[in-house]
Formats: sequence, structure tokens, C-alpha cells
Amino acid sequence: MEAFAMEPFKIKMVEPIRITSREERAGILEEAGYNTALIRADKVLIDLCTDSGTGAMSSSQWAAMMLGDESYAGAASYYRLLDVCREIFGYKFFQPVHQGRAAENVLFELLFQGEKKYAISNAFFDTTRAHAQFAGAQVFDFPVKEALDSEADYPFKGNIDVDAAEAKIKEIGPGKIGFIIMTLTNNALGGQPVSMQNMKDISAVARKYGITLLIDAARFAENAYFVKQREAGYRDKSIAEIVRETFQLADGFTMSAKKDAIVNIGGLVGIKDNPDLERGVIGRVIPYEGFITYGGLAGRDLEALAVGLKEGMDYDYLKYRVGQVERLGHALREMGVPIQYPVGGHGVFVDAGKLLPQIPADEFPGVALANELYVDAGVRGSEIGSFCLGYVDPKTGKEVPAPMEFLRLAVPRRVYTQSHMDYVVDAFRGILAKKNKLKGYKIVWQLPILRYFTARLKPL
Ligand SMILES: *Cc1c(COP(=O)(O)O)cnc(C)c1O
Repeated sequence: MEAFAMEPFKIKMVEPIRITSREERAGILEEAGYNTALIRADKVLIDLCTDSGTGAMSSSQWAAMMLGDESYAGAASYYRLLDVCREIFGYKFFQPVHQGRAAENVLFELLFQGEKKYAISNAFFDTTRAHAQFAGAQVFDFPVKEALDSEADYPFKGNIDVDAAEAKIKEIGPGKIGFIIMTLTNNALGGQPVSMQNMKDISAVARKYGITLLIDAARFAENAYFVKQREAGYRDKSIAEIVRETFQLADGFTMSAKKDAIVNIGGLVGIKDNPDLERGVIGRVIPYEGFITYGGLAGRDLEALAVGLKEGMDYDYLKYRVGQVERLGHALREMGVPIQYPVGGHGVFVDAGKLLPQIPADEFPGVALANELYVDAGVRGSEIGSFCLGYVDPKTGKEVPAPMEFLRLAVPRRVYTQSHMDYVVDAFRGILAKKNKLKGYKIVWQLPILRYFTARLKPL
């Protein structure tokens, strides 16, 4: 019997959820300036704010942590991690770092030397974009058109538009491109996968012009699972084979291990075969992250990462993982909640702009939905729309909106059961019944950049 989305684990340790009342939550939200990011986590019932560092480690990971070698130099844990990385990715060089943005910090500046001041992607993640920009570079996203239409049924909405990317390379001049980076899966556009064919095509373009091709590898295993499910010729390949093939098409990667490697903290840089770049990475890791054999992590973190990398690639786990998110998305869609479709790998992206057409972008429909969901049901999502990605134009003083008004329901790995997901679906039933009455918000305090984490709002 095929057990669709059944949790392939038993629960040995539990963390209580404290139940709050609607009245209590209304007060908590007001105190938090109507910004769910400012609510204490113990006042949240189901926390779908992010899938980053929020996963539950396995008994094998906890057991491995007890073997952590905390030596400053040459820890056994480091060598165990290297062995696992070599086996999975087939590269020559790996550097652990404390998280994904540390990998970006260590690597990117080395690739933006001299004239090389541009980078191209299927869609930059926000910290990736920030690190490229801190290094003085200008970046361009070339998602496929289908990704910008939430209703378009397309299997690989994470793909890069190869022709548009090549045209840009010719326009700027290949000698000025620091790197091309493929984000697997494409987080900004809904956890959407990239096909192997698209990786081959962009790899051929990178070779043709002598440009470094990187992978932003946070969700490399979920991407491989989608390739196996959806791409002709990959059904009979293992996740390990698909991962190998994918990484052989690139020259290096940065990874936030807080996603598919199921650790609470950690990251990696990988370089296929480039002694100069390795040397550069070592030179930057020591001042920023610490000595090369620990890279900003404790020995026990290296152990948990070595185990988590493999667990994250387990087929039965991935089937449950992607299946759980898919099932949540389908239940919401069937009820009439508009979402980015097909459902992505790590979360359901609700199209709040479509759900609440009475609220204009500059009154933040995604925030209105996030806040109602919290007060009504204690569920925390995160707005990925004009509140998060929009900004005030310094010249006109007016709000510049985001292309889409999403509320992201990011699902932590191995944390919530199917009945928790059923609870979330029920919460939306309540929202649908009163959606026409929901009103927007205005910002009363904000920072000029990354305002979403700290801004305070007032209901209109
Ligand atoms: C999370 C993430 C990062 C940054 O990683 P951190 O571990 O949060 O620093 C980079 N790229 C993608 C695609 C991510 O999802």
C-alpha cells in the first residue's frame, strides 16, 4: 500500500504548544504593532513563519552530536563531514560555515574581482542579493514567465529563462559577469523546482562564455525529488544520482544547511575543482568564521550536519515532506483559497492579492491575511509581498509595490503532524467566511531596509 504523506517517523520527545484564546491573541498582536514577526514564539500555536533552522532533528542526529569533537584544529567531526560531502556532491573542496549568508559572504567577493561586477540568477534570495550588492555588484533575475502567473500549471516554475540570460550576458559582456547562480528550489517564487534540462542549458551557456556557475543549494534535495517526479528520464534514478548529476553541471555552491540538511544552524561552501578559489575561501573563512576545521560551528553541529545531509535526501522522507506541503496546498485550493500553483517544496504561497481584492497593495493584503490568521487561529505565516519586498521611494515618498502579494505558509521539517495541517485548513475556512470584511494596514514606524522584521503598523 502506498501511504501518501504519512509521517515516516515516530515521536519520542514532545514540545508542548500552549493554547491561547482569541482575546489574548488580539491583545498580543496589538502589542506587537500588528507585525507577526514581533510576536513571541510561545504565543504562536502553529508557526509557519519559516522552514529555516526550524526542523526537528532525528534520534541519529542527536546521537551523533554526542560524538562531536570540539578540538579547535583538526576535529574528527570535520573529517566525517568532509567524507559525507565528497560522497554526495563529488567536489574536491568543502568549507563549513555558520549559515547560508556566511557562505555567500565568504565566496561572492572572490568572484567579483576587477571588471566582474554583475551576476545573473533564476531569482536571487534576499540575503544572496544583499551579499552580491555589498560586494559592489549589480544583479539580474531571469525567472521564466510562467512563474509570475500563480494559476499557470507549469512543472518547473523555478527555471531560468536561458535566452533572456544569454542576451543579458552578450549585452554586458561575458568578462564582466562574476557568476550565474541557480537557486534550487526557487524560494522567492514559491519553492518552485528547476529542471535538469534547464540546469544543462544554463551550464552550457556558462561554459560557452567561460562564466562560473554556482548553485544556491538550500533546497537541493527537494529539487531532486521534483526532478524524479516530474522530468522525463529521471523516474528510475535515485535522489543521490540526481543530486550528483545536478552538482556536476556547476562549478561551486553555497548552502544554508538550515533547510534540506535539517540542522538548526550550519552552512557550506563547495568548490568542484579550483585551487585559486579554494585558497581565497580559506583566506576569508579564517577572519570571518573561524579556523577551517570548524567554520563558525561547534563540533557537534558538524556531526548533526553530516547526518542531516543524508537524511534530507532519503526518498521516503522527501515523499512525506513534499507530500505534506502539497496536501496542505491542495486542501486550501479546493476550498477556494488562491495559491501559487503547482504547490512548491517548502511551503504554500497564498495569493493574498487575489483573496482580498478590496485591499490595495499599499495597504498590504498579505499583512491583513497574516494578522487575521494569527488572531483567529494562532497560526503564523509570513508576508512576502509589498510589506516585505516593497519600499518607500526616497524621491516620491510613495510606496513601490512588490510583483505579487503572497502570504507564505512555510512548513518546518518533521515538526507538525497532519492534524496540525488540518487545523490550518480549518483556520482558512473561517477566514473565507469573512474575507470581504478584512481591512488593510498602514505603517507607522519603519527602517529604510528589510523593514518587515521590525516595522509597526496600525489597522485602517
Ligand atoms: C535561507 C536561504 C539563504 C540564506 O541562508 P541563511 O542560513 O538564512 O543565512 C540563502 N539562499 C536561500 C535560497 C535560502 O533559502
